[in-house]
Formats: sequence, C-alpha cells, structure tokens
Amino acid sequence: MILITGGAGYIGSHTNKALHKAGYDTVVVDDLSKGYENFIKWGNFENYNTGSSDLREVFEKYDIDAVMHFAAFISVGESVEFPQKYFKNNYKNTLNLLKLMREFGVDKFIFSSTAAVYGNPQKIPITEDQDLKPINPYGHSKFITEKALQREAEKGDFNYVSLRYFNAAGCDFDGEIGELHDPETHLIPLILDAAIGKRESISIFGDDYDTPDGTCIRDYIHVNDLADAHIKAYEYLCSENESNVFNLGNGEGYSVREVIDMCKKVTGCDFEVVVDERRDGDPARLIADSSKIREKLGWTPQYDLSKIVESAWMWHKKINSI
Ligand code: UDP
Repeated sequence: MILITGGAGYIGSHTNKALHKAGYDTVVVDDLSKGYENFIKWGNFENYNTGSSDLREVFEKYDIDAVMHFAAFISVGESVEFPQKYFKNNYKNTLNLLKLMREFGVDKFIFSSTAAVYGNPQKIPITEDQDLKPINPYGHSKFITEKALQREAEKGDFNYVSLRYFNAAGCDFDGEIGELHDPETHLIPLILDAAIGKRESISIFGDDYDTPDGTCIRDYIHVNDLADAHIKAYEYLCSENESNVFNLGNGEGYSVREVIDMCKKVTGCDFEVVVDERRDGDPARLIADSSKIREKLGWTPQYDLSKIVESAWMWHKKINSI
C-alpha cells in the first residue's frame, strides 16, 4: 500500500491514477483544504492533515510500504507574505509524517521538491549538484525538508527520492482529473482563461529579461510524465538501498511568449496580450538538466509543449462547460 499525501490535488491525483494503472494499491491522505474530493477516484481515502497527531490512525489501519508526499502549499507570492504558514505546512508537517514512518517502520519516501530550491541558477541547464540558494520561503521550506530527509537517511533504515519539479503542466488525457487551483496563478490555465474570454487578457510579467524575446523561460513538464517519474522512483527505492535527488523537467525551455503562441495555435482563439511589471522572485531562465533521472531511473518524458497545452485545453473546456 502506498500512502499519497495531497492525493486530492493536481499532481497527487494524477500520480494516484498512474499508480492504479500500474497495479499498485493506494491510500490518499488529504485534508481537502486545497484538493478536491472528486479527484480521488482510485484507492482509499482518509481525511487528515499531515501535521495531525491523529495521522497515526492511518498507519495503524493500513500496511504502508512507502509514502509519496505531495501535500504542501505551493504559491511563491503567498509564501513571501506568510512565511510561517509555509514552514509549518511544508516542513514541520513533514517531520510529523517522518516520525510516524519511523515508528511504523516505513522506509521509503518520495518527496515533491522543486526547482525553487536552486534560487537564481548559476548555470543553465541546472544540474542537481548546483548550490541550493532558495530566494523565497516556499523554496526554503522545501530545501530544509530535503536536508531533514538527508539526515534521516544517514541514520539508516530509511531511503528517500527527492524529485525537484520544474513547471508542472497539462492534464489527464481522459479528462477525469486536471489542474484546478483557487486562486489560479499558473501561466497556462490563465492563458486558457483568456482564450475562453473569462479574462480580458493575459499579462506577461516582464519582457525585459535577458532572454531572446525578453520574457522568462521555463521548463514545462506534463503531469503524467511527473506521475511516471514517481512510480520509477518508488521502484528504484524497492530495488536499491540508497537515496537520491533528481531534477524533473523536459530539459527544454519555452518563453512566456512561446507558451502564449502555442496556446493560440492549439485553441484557435485570439486574445489580448499585455506586458506587465516583472513578478518578484522570478529568475529569467529555469531549465532542467534531466540526464540524471533519465540515466538512473530510465525515465523519458513522453509529452512536449503542444501535448501539454492540448490536454490542458481539453480539461479547461470541460470545467468551463464549453
Ligand atoms: N507568468 C506570466 N503571466 C502570468 C502568470 C505567469 O507572465 O499571468 C510567467 C511567470 O512570470 C513565469 C512563467 O509565466 O515566468 C511561469 O509562471 P507560473 O506561475 O506558471 O509558474 P512558476 O514558474 O512560478 O512555478
């Protein structure tokens, strides 16, 4: 049985589905503060916060073999405003989970980390051995959690894989689950809102960066490719007695303008694009060097930007009844 915290959320629910397709049993632990109960369509469900002492009931009830820990707050801007909220939910609550794992002898942990642990990268593409210098509380909360995991693993009888996500995007191709944040802050769903006329326009946060078209470059990775990496990370922990850290991106960068152009092409809709101020804490480029995960876990991403946008568009039309 694999315990999935945050399994009612975006990446957690897609991974839950992928695990079931691969034949694994799961129990989702989610307090539904951000997630959606109707995203839990596979496996068991237990409504708990990961920081709750009652969480031990889940460990008593199920024979848990591994934990995939998605539950976290994810908004960089909010983390700057409310750092304690981020350190509590993302770091302190993980310690509660680790304590229970130790007590119940659960020795495999897969952690949702982030490219935000690097801060402003020293070189592009980013390799895992670059210095970790997070520039916002969100990245910092994930960074110290990685450190806690590393120290835990050094004690023995416990291994972890930390997956440093780049820009998760796209949705389930069956349209059963998808991306739904409240409020939405991510680029692709916001562009699609502009495409359906729910927003008047899409704002580009700065076009004076040191990039070919002046807009920020990011590495967008399909959520199903992320889910697949989690399964491979679990299988790695089952076969190797070691911990590891991997970047999880396609290794290809797209500028904000390129993403907007792709959305216009896929949707066939035209909409207004306005240039706005830079957003605080946005590095000009974030592109993964993903050779380590490709070589070590045999992971290969299946979906490019056009597939990402196509699947996101399908979902967007569905939730907006178009
Ligand atoms: N972005 C933008 N307009 C928006 C939302 C995002 O120009 O309305 C830019 C943002 O500055 C970044 C990229 O799009 O360069 C991806 O942002 P997102 O919030 O989707 O993900 P993040 O990179 O923050 O994880």
